[in-house]
Amino acid sequence: MLYGMEEFDDEFGLIQKETLNVKKVSFVIAIIVLLIIVFSCFIFSKVSKNKENNVSQGTVPNYQEQLNNEVNNEQLAQLPNEDVQVDKITNVNAVQEYNGDHKQIAEHSIELNILPVANVEGHKLIKDIYYSEEKQVYLTFDDGPSKDITPQILDILKENDVKATFFVLGARVDLYPETLKREYNEGHYIANHGYSHEYSRIYQNKDTVYDEFNQCEVSIKNALGKQEYKSYLFRFPGGSRGGRYEKVKAEARQLLEEYGVAYTNWNCLTGDAAGKKTKDACIQEMLESKGNQNSVVLLMHDANDKSQTVEALPEIIQYYKNEGYTFKNFYEIFK
Ligand SMILES: [Zn+2]
Repeated sequence: MLYGMEEFDDEFGLIQKETLNVKKVSFVIAIIVLLIIVFSCFIFSKVSKNKENNVSQGTVPNYQEQLNNEVNNEQLAQLPNEDVQVDKITNVNAVQEYNGDHKQIAEHSIELNILPVANVEGHKLIKDIYYSEEKQVYLTFDDGPSKDITPQILDILKENDVKATFFVLGARVDLYPETLKREYNEGHYIANHGYSHEYSRIYQNKDTVYDEFNQCEVSIKNALGKQEYKSYLFRFPGGSRGGRYEKVKAEARQLLEEYGVAYTNWNCLTGDAAGKKTKDACIQEMLESKGNQNSVVLLMHDANDKSQTVEALPEIIQYYKNEGYTFKNFYEIFK
C-alpha cells in the first residue's frame, strides 16, 4: 500500500513534473515564437526601408532620364542654343561628403549679408541690357550647383577677382546647399532657374511656372539660411520665348512681372549645353555669338559633365579683360 502510495505519489509527482515540463516547454516555445516574430518584424522593416531607398534612388535617375529626354527633344524642337543638360542626381551620400568639404571653405569665406533689392528701374535695365553701349559682360552659369564643377568655377572666378551670376535649380540647391552658400559668400548673384527643369512640369500653365520659381526661391532661402533673400530674377528653362510652350511662356512673363520678378535670357553662349565640346570649340562659339556686341550676357552651364566650361573659363575671362570689358553681375541692377 505504502509502496502503492509511493507509487501513486511518484506517479503524481511524475504527472506534476510532466505538467511542469509541458509548461516549461510551452513557455520556451512561446519565447522562441516571440523572438521569431520580433526578428521577422526587424527584418521586414529593414527590407521595407531598403525598398524605399531603392525606389527613391530609382526615381531620381528615371526622372533625370525623362528630364534629359525632354531637354534633348526641346533642343531639337525649340531653340538651337537651348541650354541645359542636368547632371545626374545619383549619389545622395555625396551631399554629406560635399558639405564636409565646404565647411572648411566656409571658414575662410566672408559671411556676406548683401541682399538683392527690389528695383523698379531694374526691370527696364534688364530688358534693355543688350543695348547698353557700355562694354560689360555678365557671366552666367545655369543649372547648378553641381558637385564637381561649381567649386572649380568658383576657384577660377576668385583667382580672377570676377563676380558672376548663378541661375540655380532648386532641386540642385537642395542637394548642395553649402555650395550655394559659397557662391553667395563669394559675392556672386544667386538667381532663379526654377526647381525641376522639367519642361512638361514647368510649362503646364502660367501658375506652374510661378510655382517653379517659388519652389526654387524656398530652396535658396533655406540653403542660405536667409528667409529674407529674394532673387527677383528668373531665367526660363529653354529661354523665355518661342517654341512649343510660347503661349504659356507669354502668360508667365506677364504674371512674373505682376509679381515683380524680372527675367533674362542671353545674347552670347559657349554652346556647352550641346553635348561634349572641346574647350576651343566653346571659346570659338563664344566669339562667334558675341560678334561685336558691347553688352554681353554670356550663357554657360554648371553641371558635372561640363568640364569643358571649366577649361575654357580662364581664357574667356582673359579675353574680356583684354578687350576692356567690365565684369558685372545682377547686384549691379538689384541694389
Ligand atoms: Zn537650364
